[in-house]
Amino acid sequence: MTGLSHDVIAAVATAPGRGGIGVVRISGPDLSVYVQGLVGRALKPRYAHHARFLDAQGQVLDDGLAIWFPAPHSFTGEHVLELQGHGGPFVLQAILQRCLELGARMAQPGEFSRRAFMNGKLDLVQAEAIADLIDASSQQAARSALRALEGDFSRRISTLKEALIQLRMLVEATLDFPEEEIDFLEKADAWGRLATITSHLESVLTTTRQGVLLREGLNVVLIGQPNVGKSSLLNQLAGFDAAIVTEVAGTTRDTLREAIQLEGIPLHIVDTAGLRETEDPVERMGIERTWAAVQKADIALLLIDAQHGVGDAEAAILSRLRDIPVLTVHNKIDLTADTPRLSEDGNEMWIAAKLGLGVDLLRARLLALAGWQQSGEGVYSARSRHLDALRRAQIHLIVARDTGPQLEFFAEELRLAQEALGEITGEFTADDLLGVIFSQFCIGK
Ligand code: GDP
Repeated sequence: MTGLSHDVIAAVATAPGRGGIGVVRISGPDLSVYVQGLVGRALKPRYAHHARFLDAQGQVLDDGLAIWFPAPHSFTGEHVLELQGHGGPFVLQAILQRCLELGARMAQPGEFSRRAFMNGKLDLVQAEAIADLIDASSQQAARSALRALEGDFSRRISTLKEALIQLRMLVEATLDFPEEEIDFLEKADAWGRLATITSHLESVLTTTRQGVLLREGLNVVLIGQPNVGKSSLLNQLAGFDAAIVTEVAGTTRDTLREAIQLEGIPLHIVDTAGLRETEDPVERMGIERTWAAVQKADIALLLIDAQHGVGDAEAAILSRLRDIPVLTVHNKIDLTADTPRLSEDGNEMWIAAKLGLGVDLLRARLLALAGWQQSGEGVYSARSRHLDALRRAQIHLIVARDTGPQLEFFAEELRLAQEALGEITGEFTADDLLGVIFSQFCIGK
């Protein structure tokens, strides 16, 4: 997996637009031409030099700080030159252009991180955590990304892998001595060890599920007739008067995603208000998109007027849902003199959205339905891809347990479980998947 790349990449690492400072980052196997060409003198490693950045004619492009990180003590593990100039788009582009003249090429999104990964500076989970940290939209999301970046998740995977490797060594050694195999493995408590690994994996799965929730959010489909109080409820959940798109009769109401968070978990609301029979082709496209989003929802929130029941339109939508939890919320209880509460089975609630009555209960219930178990303590950011690999590893362990006396199959399932775990940290990850993962990063990272 290691090995330096042959070419030099450069990018503006700071966000586009104007700012106090802006950073151009260059990484590659040999940067002497760049140090000489841009700064005009040798640089001390990891030392902030005040320098003028020069163009081909020796004219000053900008005045700032130059830092040289010789390999392997850099972010990418290669030689890295960081030029901190003034944060104007023109200045930074001029410096970048100069790098290109000297032979560098523009870095692709995530290419610095990809090199860091290829050079063993980070594993894949940590590289992904950098992207998550940059994308974090809440304190909880940032904290959990930092935990993953610092290796909390990777360590748990490594511990699991280590235990699996030990068990595999035992089993593989036994395969050579078939007459004693089962006895030997029983004495070495192979199945006890397998049970321990399986239960550790389950606990990692639980935490990872929380991490995915925190990063990817919860999809809630909101079902309710006009005027039952959907906008009022969304405003309450958002905690401020978010700009709720109001329905104008006859216009397409697209999938509405509100920037609402519950304990740092982004809530993606799919509003079904626009779902209706129509001849209009444009509107129909919007409606199809909404249906597609509805099918991906994790939870259905059915909002009804406490004084009325469920109408035909809502019943029709409900009948088309996948098998997901449906929470029926009776709104406007101020008009029926009810109190805010949750039914015993947890499937029904009574609230007054406009007055904010019962909204906290609703928040808590949504989190519980989503499977949120902790208040973010110890959760590291994670992705569906991690969850998927963990689930596959879990299945291999279960199959291994049930293989009976055929040790070859037992050994093979253990190997497959280890391989699935290896995908998480990037040991066994196909190149095209790496391409997909890193292409979602920003340029300069
Ligand atoms: P939407 O059409 O479903 O989005 O409903 P709105 O949120 O726009 O609310 C429709 C009407 O019901 C508005 O006049 C709201 O003020 C009113 N409303 C919403 N929630 C409540 C509530 O809890 N109690 C009462 N009395 N009125 C409410």
